[in-house]
Amino acid sequence: MNDQIADPSHDHRVAEALLAFWADAGVDACLEDAPIDRTHVAPAPAAKAVARATASVTPLVQTGDALGEARRLAAGATTLDELAAAVAAFTGCPLSGMGATQAVFGRGNPDASVLVIGEGPGAEEDRQGQPFVGKAGQLLDRMLASAGLTDRVFITNTVFWRPPGNRTPTPQEQAICAPFVERAFAILKPRAVLLLGAAAAKSVLQVEEGIMRLRGNWQDWRLAEGAVSAPAMPTLHPAFLLRQPQAKKVVWADLLALAARLDGEMLEPDS
Ligand code: URA
Repeated sequence: MNDQIADPSHDHRVAEALLAFWADAGVDACLEDAPIDRTHVAPAPAAKAVARATASVTPLVQTGDALGEARRLAAGATTLDELAAAVAAFTGCPLSGMGATQAVFGRGNPDASVLVIGEGPGAEEDRQGQPFVGKAGQLLDRMLASAGLTDRVFITNTVFWRPPGNRTPTPQEQAICAPFVERAFAILKPRAVLLLGAAAAKSVLQVEEGIMRLRGNWQDWRLAEGAVSAPAMPTLHPAFLLRQPQAKKVVWADLLALAARLDGEMLEPDS
């Protein structure tokens, strides 16, 4: 028998199977230019202490700079198109350097009465440059259409670059992108806001409660300056509904409550 085939480390099928395994697990981004030698001897304790000390300072400084830049760019936009261009020009979000191919800002009616905010772009959104165009987005579109909301929404996310492996964006990444989300809110002045999933609800409303408690209950989203506010309805994320279709009925109740509020009725969503 050929030695190279007998030894699994020389069999390309082993490598392909391993790659397929990681791709299935959602790991599809290479984050470093050069491989890291993880067999490297651990640094001496003194070097570790220096690294820890600088790590606790540098990201804060960088975050402050990035936030200042995000605020400046966002404030300069007076339309959603200008805001999309400002987001595309922004390089301060760490996610933009983690394998995303482009910024994904928003889609929908620029005069919408409802601002829909999701978590962050996935693989299909990263490819097409539009939010909610993958499987979860198609489900969202069907539900919005059934509730008569299709032309009444503008859809965006808490972050504008695809997090590697579709992980949840960190609160820091969301905070850096928040000036753009808030500016979209201020430009659109929607009559209501729909928050899709825990990551969006927590980031926008600055609360810690779980989405199962929050959903179906109107909250008040008010910008710090107080000039813009709207009722916000947290609900479950459509990606969750793809895995748990039995939960669609509560989201449906939330969407009907939203539609009723826009049409001047007040419906209480089912619990
Ligand atoms: N999930 C989100 O939260 N946003 C998208 O744009 C797509 C999927």
